[in-house]
Amino acid sequence: MRFKINEIGAEGLPLHVPVTAEWVAAACPEAELRPGPGGLALDGRIDKTGEDYLLRAHVRGELEMTCARCLEPARIPIDVPLALTFVSSEADKTDGDDDPDVVPLKGNEIDVGDEVRDEILLALPLNPLCQEACRGLCEVCGANRNLSACTCKAGVAATAPFAALGKLKLSNT
Ligand SMILES: [Zn+2]
Ligand SMILES: [Zn+2]
Repeated sequence: MRFKINEIGAEGLPLHVPVTAEWVAAACPEAELRPGPGGLALDGRIDKTGEDYLLRAHVRGELEMTCARCLEPARIPIDVPLALTFVSSEADKTDGDDDPDVVPLKGNEIDVGDEVRDEILLALPLNPLCQEACRGLCEVCGANRNLSACTCKAGVAATAPFAALGKLKLSNT
C-alpha cells in the first residue's frame, strides 16, 4: 500500500488498489480473515497541497470471516472512509504527532498499509454471522441447522429426567 510521491502530479493520483488475500494475511495474521468473492479495494485519490499530501479514500468491498455459530463463511460488507494527511518529517516535529490522521512521510513514499489494516480490524464484528438468523450447529450430531433440521432432541433429553424428578417431589409433599 505504498505510493511514490514523485508520481503524484498537480492533478493528483487516483487510487484503485485491490486488497489481496496475501496482503490481508500478512497485515492481519491474528484474524481469520480474507477478502470475500466480491473483492476488497482501496479507492480514492491523493492530492498534493503545498508540502503535504491529502489522501481521501474508501476501503470498500467485503471480507470473509467464519460464522461464530455454524462455521460457514460469514461475509462482512466493508465501506470505511480514510482521510489522512501525510506530512514531511520536519513539519511533523513542529506540529507534534497527536493527530492520528496526520502521518509522517516515509522517505519518498506514502504508506497507508497501517491505516488500512487498522480500519479493517476496527470494522470487524466480534461475532461474525453468516446471517442474522443463523441457527448454528446441532450440539448433538453437529449438523448445520441452517441446511437440515436434524431429529436430535437435545433440549428434551437433557431436561426430561429433572422434570420427572420435580413432579415426584411435588407429589410427595
Ligand atoms: Zn452461520
Ligand atoms: Zn442433531
